[in-house]
Amino acid sequence: MIAETDPSLQVLGSVFGYDSFRGEQQEIIDHVVAGGDAIVLMPTGGGKSLCYQIPALVRSGTGIVVSPLIALMQDQVDALELVGVRAAFLNSSQSTQQRIEVEQAYRSGELDVLYVAPERLAMAGTRDLLDSSSIALFAIDEAHCVSQWGHDFRPDYLQLAGLVVRWPDVPRIALTATATRATHDEITERLEMPKARHFVANFDRPNIQYRIEPKSNVKSQVLSFIRTEHPDDAGIVYALSRKSVDGIAEFLREKGVNAYPYHAGMDATSRRETQARFLREDGVVVVATIAFGMGIDKPDVRFVAHADLPKSIEGYYQETGRAGRDGLAATAWLAYGLGDVVNLRRMIDDSPGEREFKIKLSSHLDAMLALCETTTCRRVNLLSYFGQKSQACGNCDTCLSPPETWDGTVAAQKLLSTVVRLKRERNQSFGAGQIIDILRGKQTDRVRQWRHDELTTWGIGSDISEQQWRAITRQLLASGALAVGTDGYGTLVTTDASDGILRGERSVDLRNDPVPASRRSASGARRKQAKSDGAPLSPADEELFELLRQWRGEKAREKSLPAYVVFNDSTLREIARQRPSTREALLGITGIGEKKRDTYGDDVVSVVTGSQ
Ligand code: ADP
Ligand code: ZN
Repeated sequence: MIAETDPSLQVLGSVFGYDSFRGEQQEIIDHVVAGGDAIVLMPTGGGKSLCYQIPALVRSGTGIVVSPLIALMQDQVDALELVGVRAAFLNSSQSTQQRIEVEQAYRSGELDVLYVAPERLAMAGTRDLLDSSSIALFAIDEAHCVSQWGHDFRPDYLQLAGLVVRWPDVPRIALTATATRATHDEITERLEMPKARHFVANFDRPNIQYRIEPKSNVKSQVLSFIRTEHPDDAGIVYALSRKSVDGIAEFLREKGVNAYPYHAGMDATSRRETQARFLREDGVVVVATIAFGMGIDKPDVRFVAHADLPKSIEGYYQETGRAGRDGLAATAWLAYGLGDVVNLRRMIDDSPGEREFKIKLSSHLDAMLALCETTTCRRVNLLSYFGQKSQACGNCDTCLSPPETWDGTVAAQKLLSTVVRLKRERNQSFGAGQIIDILRGKQTDRVRQWRHDELTTWGIGSDISEQQWRAITRQLLASGALAVGTDGYGTLVTTDASDGILRGERSVDLRNDPVPASRRSASGARRKQAKSDGAPLSPADEELFELLRQWRGEKAREKSLPAYVVFNDSTLREIARQRPSTREALLGITGIGEKKRDTYGDDVVSVVTGSQ
């Protein structure tokens, strides 16, 4: 049988405790073991790490892993050591003594895997060190950091192209969860990997439920979402500015949620503490700017909530991908409103940079808006952005409760003609608030001051609520039938597309904003389990699972490790279900290899047998 003699499969079972490869892991690993270069695009949680860890173990020499995530290297090394892999790292957080020890271990060929920060690898001393022993492969993790357009750009990554010049015979594998064609091409070019084989995985994350709802009072919306659907779960709430991060975190804490802020304006120590707490404690919510999250491989993040509109689908998909890496049900929730569209358009106009750059930012935003306003499956829309065809998913808000559409042509004409008249008759531009007051015939100081009650469109839209008018304005902005002026005040202006609507040549289909789902689904009935190991445990098994969790918590604290590094939830669930009563039986459980059986086997067996 081939399986018996395949060293990669052997390592998969004996070291990592898994019985089969996922997706294209096997092909990727075989290719790199044989000395080939590879570019791997796999969604977060897809299983990228094994693609370089196993070849590093199978090939002779040390696997060098380049990663920008210095703060996470210790955890990664700890996790590898727990399964018996000899691992270490080199980065600026170390003392000289620690560094010397790692260097010695490398020189004597005692390391299977060595994590190196990109700026270290740029140093001549590090390069000489690498020459002093044999290199199994170079793995370039988070490879999208070479992309200057992306938000994670690291200048040191550009130097990684030099690896091929110095070590032409060492295979290189570049990995990322960013999937657009443009990023893909940039990685190939900038890392100089023209001959690499490309592996593009299925980007679907079926266990994540995607939901987007209109924003009204975002703090209360986030709170009610967490309370009704994810009380006591770990999750991330993303917001655009430091100020709103602080505001939301404080509000959630006042309401009893175990939430902490995280943004670049905080000092390094508090940021480190928040990150450690998130990784090590159960049920922590981090409210953060996008500075938080890359490389965090906590498997049981149950939700990612966006309190502000992300700037691109690429960013949104990476951020939401941090939910549910363990394959169990998770939620990606986003609230967005008229204000988001106006703000982001204004930020793009104000941003320094070439016209070409602004056009690029605008097109990213347009794609994001199209996703928000779509009346068809969110997932089909997302995946098609990454060039992948799919069927309606049944696990997003538009599939679960298809939005109603209505003919908004007349409403759109009323709104657009108000904007046109203000410009033509008064040479004025105003923001959405004033336009809506005019349409609704609302007497305010500003209306009196500007005599807007004398306009012919005054009060012609009083049959539509203010909230509905905001939804209409938002959708017209999203579709390009209306635009934000460049005066920096968020005023509304018409576009070429407006003319067709005003002349009655184009009709406008609008979606009715649904009632926010978090309020509707208070029963929680929609929580869907995505995989078989997510099926509910029997009460007796649930009890054992809790005992195992307690035991795991103690072990993790003793060594100051995140709990999931000891065993993840799926492994504990499987133990609770199968109740292995011997050390040998433990090897049949997913996630238990030989080293972990030796370290924890007796403990686990006694928790299991003690509970009977
Ligand atoms: P990525 O780096 O792509 O985000 P990871 O490498 O962290 O993903 O893997 C995600 C999770 O899936 C981890 O908990 C990992 O142990 C698990 N995993 C990866 N490959 C397999 C496999 N072949 N069988 C079972 N579990 C796997
Ligand atoms: Zn769907």
